Amino acid sequence: MARVAVVSGGSRGIGAAISKALKASGYQVAATYAGNDEAATKFKDETGIPVYKWDVGSYKACSEGLEQVSKDLGPIEILVNNAGITRDGMFHKMTPEQWYDVINTNLNSLFNMTRPVIEGMRERGFGRIVNISSINGQKGQMGQANYSAAKAGDLGFTKALAQENANKGITVNAICPGYIATEMVKAIPQEVLEKAILPQIPVRRLGEVEEIARAVVFLVAEEAGFITGSTLSINGGQYFI
Ligand code: NDP
Repeated sequence: MARVAVVSGGSRGIGAAISKALKASGYQVAATYAGNDEAATKFKDETGIPVYKWDVGSYKACSEGLEQVSKDLGPIEILVNNAGITRDGMFHKMTPEQWYDVINTNLNSLFNMTRPVIEGMRERGFGRIVNISSINGQKGQMGQANYSAAKAGDLGFTKALAQENANKGITVNAICPGYIATEMVKAIPQEVLEKAILPQIPVRRLGEVEEIARAVVFLVAEEAGFITGSTLSINGGQYFI
């Protein structure tokens, strides 16, 4: 049987491209989402990929949801922690809700989604975990203290988990996308894009969602077993660490 891959936030944007690329590579894919039923139904109808609705910010919902996926498709061997949100604002104006929502969805979700599947991966001696962080977790971004903190946390989590599970056939890696042409980024006015954003990107264009998906397919492959604890920057040359 084909290995089972779960992609959180897998019904839209970068996550949808990851789900489709994994399916095209022969995996059984389950895509999760939060509440946009219309987008999820459209995605499911177009791709044939089953969708599951739960909040990655809730440990209980993640445990139950992942249990259901296992029952439907089989043991989860690949996990892509992709779901994420932004609630931007300068820190001196930031509300507790903006802070807690972003930390919960972007960082606590890694515990909530990974903890229920890691023991099974260890027992079976195989696992692939890819965490979608951000360039802003590497360099920090004005107006995104909450998001930068969460995304930097994703990187620490990746490195610790990689070490803990390296002798169990499990790899844990992070991808840090730069500006990717998702709906959110495409909505930026053309003038702002041309004058303020593209000049920061040496490649002089936005990244495509498929360029992130391609890296995920690479990292989850059987042959990528020696790559663990790494951070892959995919940002058109905008930032290196
Ligand atoms: P989108 O906003 O296009 O999609 C987000 C997905 O996550 C949706 O499927 C959404 O579900 C789901 N989601 C959001 N909150 C929750 C939640 N609480 N529980 C479950 N699912 C949830 O995001 P992008 O494709 O732009 O981003 C994907 C990832 O890549 C994020 O982690 C983001 O931080 C990161 N990233 C994006 C960049 C970019 O340029 N776009 C740059 C760097 C990093 P629903 O459809 O129901 O809302």
